[in-house]
Amino acid sequence: MPAIPANKPYRVGRSPTGLGLFATKPIKKGTKIIRYFGPLLDSKKKKDDAIENKYLFELNDRWTIDGSVRKNVARYINHACKPNAESDVRPRKRKVFIRAIKNIEPGEEINYDYGTDYFKAYLKPIGCKCAACEKKRKKKRAEARAEKLRLKAKAERKALKKAQKAAEKLAGQAARKNGGVKANGKLLDGKHLNGKHLNGNGRAKVTARRSPATRPRTSAPAPALQAQA
Ligand SMILES: [Zn+2]
Repeated sequence: MPAIPANKPYRVGRSPTGLGLFATKPIKKGTKIIRYFGPLLDSKKKKDDAIENKYLFELNDRWTIDGSVRKNVARYINHACKPNAESDVRPRKRKVFIRAIKNIEPGEEINYDYGTDYFKAYLKPIGCKCAACEKKRKKKRAEARAEKLRLKAKAERKALKKAQKAAEKLAGQAARKNGGVKANGKLLDGKHLNGKHLNGNGRAKVTARRSPATRPRTSAPAPALQAQA
């Protein structure tokens, strides 16, 4: 790792994607943090134009900074879609500074937006690993999980309803087969008889009325037999 003077408000450290630049002191919004520097490449020169690496910083149509040199500590700054710094490009001076666009606390990683061209070429194919994108992915995963649970619960409710309906249908069929009484050509469910609601008492009355009429018939012949004997 490169040696950084103690008076600088940053250090190179481990980040989720490899190495990164971290604040060691509070950095106020608007502060120039570090210069992004390296040899200037002239696109009009074939030799310069042939150079290809991840640290090229295009100033304009003609000039590009080759930031791949070790001394360029700013090259450790990672991309972020919601950054706390920005690249302040001065094409006429052929200089680039990284400037804080938020107050940055010690320990916080410094980052800036690399721009759409870089994003499309290098980050989109592998998936941007910046905090904002990770958060978005996490939220999407959580939403997908919640949706899956919601659908599962819905399917379970539906299955339960279906099972209940099937059980009710079966119970109805069984009631018609066993308990159903046909009276006056009407199909009855056991509760109704001749339009009258019956319960235990009703049935008891029917048998009570019938029994006095049958009792004399069975008991009457007995005295006659006794008398004959
Ligand atoms: Zn991102």
